[in-house]
Amino acid sequence: MASGADLRLVGVTKRFGAFTAVDDLTLTVPRGSFFALLGASGCGKTTTLRMIAGLEEPTAGQVLLGDRDVTPLRPYKRPVNTVFQSYALFPHLSISDNVAFGLRRRGVKQHADQVEQMLRLVEMEGFGRRKPSQLSGGQQQRVALARALINRPQVLLLDEPLGALDLKLRRQMQVELKRIQTEVGITFVHVTHDQEEAMTMADTVAVMNAGRIEQLGAPVDMYDFPGTAFVANFLGQSNLFAAEVRGRNGGDVLVEAYGTRYTVPSARARAEDGTVWLGVRPEKMHLSTGEVPSGHQSVSGLVTDSSYMGVSTQYLVRAPWGEELTVFVPNSGVAAPLAVASEVTVHWRPEHAFLLPRPAGET
Ligand code: ATP
Repeated sequence: MASGADLRLVGVTKRFGAFTAVDDLTLTVPRGSFFALLGASGCGKTTTLRMIAGLEEPTAGQVLLGDRDVTPLRPYKRPVNTVFQSYALFPHLSISDNVAFGLRRRGVKQHADQVEQMLRLVEMEGFGRRKPSQLSGGQQQRVALARALINRPQVLLLDEPLGALDLKLRRQMQVELKRIQTEVGITFVHVTHDQEEAMTMADTVAVMNAGRIEQLGAPVDMYDFPGTAFVANFLGQSNLFAAEVRGRNGGDVLVEAYGTRYTVPSARARAEDGTVWLGVRPEKMHLSTGEVPSGHQSVSGLVTDSSYMGVSTQYLVRAPWGEELTVFVPNSGVAAPLAVASEVTVHWRPEHAFLLPRPAGET
């Protein structure tokens, strides 16, 4: 990945009447990276993408491509292209002519080689003479991608491009998209509400919430040690205990939750005083009907539900304070499944927990 910023948003805001859809967004997308804007429906992802494309005018702020302020430029003057969920291929043109469209418009006459190269890139060689209606949804999306890349835009914008595909094809295309991005080295900005999709493909994920960026970072870092309770729950699942900090013990923070003391290493604490969330991912929790390994922290509970999920079983365990904890147990072991109403101890290693600030009012 080359260094330097390809795209910068500086204080970008979009208001529709009194409603603020995008609120003072500042972010940098490194050149040649795969960047995902992730968030629930209505959080402002598409509006952000449309402002980068020039399809929507910011109420305030600037969009910069490289060092160039493109905020006043019309969409076709910007070195960006967009792939939408609806493939929007021209139905009357052949696949080759669809892919060649951008070059033709620029007056390039000799384009057969480039079209071939693009079709090869998206693994659609040999389909050039067909019409879009003779292709499957996944194949049409590959062609849409080839069409968007043939002009070698500086930045490619993708708005839920896999949204119309079934789950299996979607997973396959996630891997494909990442491969294609690496091969062409163009900066991709991908909008999705699917956390798994964002984590699979992106070098950097920006989690959006109500028009703002809640957290931005590498997927593995954000998953392992989320920055806020929102991110802890949006990126995968988390068990969050409402806790209070009681002090320090060497390199650990001591907290109390529902009358029990727990420790968390300082390096895993984003807050070291006041009210906090003590968080543990479901796959970092274990279940035991006997001894708890030494050094583990624990809470007793009652199994209220179990769902077989192939790779793992998801257990719901009611803690003494009434909340249900989610625990994923891999099915690879020989342990017999636990029946509903079993008494169990949920346990975890302190270094697998994390502490997050808990603003007043969050319970
Ligand atoms: P989705 O995943 O559902 O597409 P999103 O995160 O992309 O959601 P946006 O499409 O960016 O969300 O919309 C953000 C908010 O702005 C929404 O509440 C939406 O209703 C509102 N909005 C978007 N476009 C307009 C518009 N032209 N006029 C008024 N409100 C709008």
